[in-house]
Amino acid sequence: MSDQYVKVQVEQMKSFGEDAEKEGVDTEEQVPGSSPSASVSPDHPTGTDASSTSLPCKQTGKSRSKPGREDKRHTSDVASQGSVVSSEKNLNRLGYERTLQVKGTGKILQRKSEPNGNYVTIHTSKNIEEMRREEGFKLAKKRRPVTVDTSKAKTSLEALKISIKQLKWKEFPLGRRTACDIYWHGVSFHDNENIVSGQVNKFPGMIEMLRKINLSRAVRTMQELFPEEYDFYPRSWILPEEYQQFTTQIHMVKEKDATVNPTFIVKPDGGSQGDGIYLIRDPSDLKLMTGSQAKQGVVQEYIQKPLLIDKLKFDIRLYVLIKSLEPLEIYIAKEGLTRFCTELYQEPSQKNLSHVFMHLTNYSLNVHSGNFVHSDSQSTGSKRTLSSVLYRLAAKGVDIKRVWSDIIALVIKTVIAVVPELRVYYQADIPPGKPGPTCFQILGFDILLMKNLKPVLLEVNSNPSMRIEHEQEVAPGVFEYVPSPVDEEVKVGVIRDTLRLMDPGHKKPTVPQQRAGGFEQGEEIPMEEETQEKSQDETGTLPSLCLKQVYPKYSKQFNYLRLVERIAALFIRFLGVKGNMRLGPTAFRTFISVGTWATND
Ligand code: ADP
Repeated sequence: MSDQYVKVQVEQMKSFGEDAEKEGVDTEEQVPGSSPSASVSPDHPTGTDASSTSLPCKQTGKSRSKPGREDKRHTSDVASQGSVVSSEKNLNRLGYERTLQVKGTGKILQRKSEPNGNYVTIHTSKNIEEMRREEGFKLAKKRRPVTVDTSKAKTSLEALKISIKQLKWKEFPLGRRTACDIYWHGVSFHDNENIVSGQVNKFPGMIEMLRKINLSRAVRTMQELFPEEYDFYPRSWILPEEYQQFTTQIHMVKEKDATVNPTFIVKPDGGSQGDGIYLIRDPSDLKLMTGSQAKQGVVQEYIQKPLLIDKLKFDIRLYVLIKSLEPLEIYIAKEGLTRFCTELYQEPSQKNLSHVFMHLTNYSLNVHSGNFVHSDSQSTGSKRTLSSVLYRLAAKGVDIKRVWSDIIALVIKTVIAVVPELRVYYQADIPPGKPGPTCFQILGFDILLMKNLKPVLLEVNSNPSMRIEHEQEVAPGVFEYVPSPVDEEVKVGVIRDTLRLMDPGHKKPTVPQQRAGGFEQGEEIPMEEETQEKSQDETGTLPSLCLKQVYPKYSKQFNYLRLVERIAALFIRFLGVKGNMRLGPTAFRTFISVGTWATND
């Protein structure tokens, strides 16, 4: 525990109960979000969901704490202090609800009267972290403009600067002696060390979690538990450990039916931008070693029949915001990018396996093909907006509502698959006693549409490129960075609207009610014309948010999949954080794989 960390905790202890007075003073130099109050204002939970399930679906800002541990800590607090300091009544049709605050903890116990007159504790809807956040909101309202530390933003800096300017917020390009509201990191949570307040745009462990092996493992766990729900991820084998299974299974398939000739794509574990990727048709073509070292990676079923536009393969880059892990809040950007291959597509054959411009959609590869088309228009060229592609498909009679709802489902399910382990990472870096920071993160989902329009997940990028310029050969052999209008349109919108959602003074939106008819019919479809229409925000200066909440909005349909997360909560509670028995993500992976194996038996 660092000195700085201890100091902030001591400050917090002192500030308990003093927040109301502080609100009146100039808070410019205060550490935001790190002043929890014992004397929290009463709360009136209204959502029946919130009161009936242990998985919160009520939109209540972000919380870092883990229910198991919180509950335990607060139970002992109640026992030791034994004092309930205030109560609130809330009448509803079902009965008489009572909200109890426990002194010094910020914890609220909510109770409801049964028809028989007994009280039952129905839900502990707010925990100390949510209280801290709310206090942070209150303070921040007085403290405009919001401050952003951009000193570690790296290649997202340009888009970030434009966004901050549009929001009229305050940028600290060299960092700041005192705390900022938001820290924008270019790579990982650890880009700035010793942050104990505010919000960081990266989660601890996200890079590790989304590496190809770990993502495949996490999705595999879900495939074992819910095979139909997780059929959007191609069959994958982890290398080198599953090499034997891979070869055995492929030989068995071929023996059964000699006409089957599948293709596989091999991806190095830490790779990106198509680096080190190759296609094979026979397990013996796998390159297993680099020198004397076994190569880590995955070998994956290759999707042979992708949907083509103008006879070219393309994939979708979708931006997804994890606004909070607990409660889980997911937003999807209505506008994304599509990246096109630069060589006409043919199904894989031994002859064309090495044609990367035909099989791999990576911008970074195709930009070097002589056929790459840089375009000022968003609906032509080798990189286009998602909405322009959906518009084009709709014009051809494709049911794009269905496609879009399938994409939303894929995103929610994928996030649900990685959240359990992320919670273990989170716990290790930001244990419940640490004042902050809290985290959010923009992820880049790479999705392929199959010919039958089914979306397939290729990978999730923890650091999607936020560059808004691209390299161009302006004269023979002379390369320059020039603005890319398509990237700017999409990426500035995503960053700016992420900031708007993370604004500490942002009025928390109510959870949108799911409309009758539900998920498939209810969702807005990102269409070209719609995104061009600039509806204004309250101040009349900003377009409406391009990020749409999908979770908890659709929690009813997906909550049942959050099974492993409950196991993670137990792991954290009993194994992950107890004294010397502090076990981390690797131990959790083993724990989970044993668990699912046991379930299958
Ligand atoms: P990288 O991180 O190196 O970009 P990806 O997993 O995104 O690795 O793969 C690179 C490209 O290969 C994708 O953009 C896509 O065009 C193609 N690709 C990847 N996996 C598959 C697959 N299973 N089937 C068909 N094409 C794939």
